[in-house]
Amino acid sequence: MKNGNVDLHLHTTASDGSYSPRGIVQYAKKNGLVAVGITDHDDISGLEPAIDEGDKIGVEVLPGVELSTKYKKGTMHILGYMIDPGNESLNDALTDLKNARITRNKKIIEKLTDLGMNITLEEVKEEAKDGSVGRPHFANILLRKDYVGNYYEAFNKYLKKGGPAYVDREKLTIEEAIELIRSASGIPVLAHPHSLKIERRKKLEAFIKPLIEYGLGGLEVYYSRHTKPQTETYKKIARHLDLLITGGSDFHGKNKPGVKIGVGKGNLDLQYHLVENLLSENSS
Ligand code: AMP
Ligand code: ZN
Ligand code: FE
Ligand code: FE
Repeated sequence: MKNGNVDLHLHTTASDGSYSPRGIVQYAKKNGLVAVGITDHDDISGLEPAIDEGDKIGVEVLPGVELSTKYKKGTMHILGYMIDPGNESLNDALTDLKNARITRNKKIIEKLTDLGMNITLEEVKEEAKDGSVGRPHFANILLRKDYVGNYYEAFNKYLKKGGPAYVDREKLTIEEAIELIRSASGIPVLAHPHSLKIERRKKLEAFIKPLIEYGLGGLEVYYSRHTKPQTETYKKIARHLDLLITGGSDFHGKNKPGVKIGVGKGNLDLQYHLVENLLSENSS
């Protein structure tokens, strides 16, 4: 049996992380990780180079993705592990989502311009390199141009949901996201359940239960922002509903200051058995 630390929730420059797909695998190795999950927002273009790098230097790379879904009360993300990167319906859906982001980005630029800021679409594209553009890229530019004093202020003042420069983008329904991942041979996992903003265990469990009918397979119990009591609650729910337990930091490099690879905010210590559980689920 393989041993060692893992991190199953990482972002690269294919979405809004600051490390390249190859670079993040090297960085994972440097930090002693034996396996990682690459889970970019709505984008799987980083998987091939990351897997190739992992083969070269000896880090197991699990192909993943993180899909945003429609959810009014807070944020709902579905992680997909062990997806087939060549799956046609997945690729078609991701192309549509990428196009929806472009439409949204133009609207964010308009709002920021109306608020008196000087920022262009070209600058945002440049900031995102070749990856899909997210709000962290806007935040970096606002910071660089001294419109805000730090990265988080860009969200709190302008970019957060309900903020003056916030624009909603086209999202999949929960059911669509789960079915899409299943159709690409992946395992759908409900990401960072704290962001659903359902505090009571009974209520949260009642919310998650019907998702299993759609094909949900796991719950991200371990996460940088989960408190100890939250982690315990989510673990109980996962066990009770017979969901796989996963965990990860949601590391974005410099695009999420305070979150470190492998350890999150110092609260994570994820072992290889989490990977084994995913692999055995996928082959059964
Ligand atoms: P987007 O995909 O463009 O909607 O951007 C989502 C990303 O923005 C998330 O993955 C976070 O990294 C970041 N983000 C969203 N809300 C906040 C917030 N309130 N503070 C800091 N970062 C945030
Ligand atoms: Zn992100
Ligand atoms: Fe997320
Ligand atoms: Fe994430």
